Parts: sequence; structure tokens; C-alpha cells
Amino acid sequence: MPYKIVPLYSKCIGCGDCVTACPINAIGKRTARADMVTLRVRNGKVEVVNEELCDGCGVCIEACPTKAIKIEFVQ
Ligand code: SF4
Ligand code: SF4
Repeated sequence: MPYKIVPLYSKCIGCGDCVTACPINAIGKRTARADMVTLRVRNGKVEVVNEELCDGCGVCIEACPTKAIKIEFVQ
């Protein structure tokens, strides 16, 4: 994968907007498998659950009010 999603935990306020916005996560909500989501919020902080599902669309980055998510491009 040429990119990875990186939460900046110190900036996250746990609002869940990124989770709601992520189109892959929306698919995950219709499944019984907890690992079929890219993001979730636990203990008030966002975390990456299944990085492989992320397609790098950037919707979560736009949704985050505190700029707590970024995408790192990797070689
Ligand atoms: S970049 Fe897109 S697919 Fe990846 S976690 Fe964010 S919203 Fe979901
Ligand atoms: S939208 Fe931003 S602040 Fe809200 S849970 Fe996601 S990463 Fe944290």
C-alpha cells in the first residue's frame, strides 16, 4: 500500500466524525466483523483497526475538526 493512515492522538477529541465519514467504515457497520472497519474510537481516541481496508480517499482528514489525522505516503 503506498500510504498509511496516521492518527495524531494528542489532537484527537474522540468526536467520532472520522468514523462516521469513512466510507469503508460505513461498510463495516453493516457487517458483524469488528475488523471490517478502518477506524474506530475507543477510550475517547481514534485508532486504526484495519489499515488494509483504507483506500486513501482522505474523507476522514476533511471530516476531522482538529486535524488529528494525516496520511503518510510510503515508498
Ligand atoms: S482515507 Fe478514506 S478509507 Fe482511509 S480511513 Fe480515511 S476515510 Fe477511510
Ligand atoms: S474526527 Fe478527529 S477528533 Fe474526531 S475522533 Fe476522528 S481523529 Fe479524533
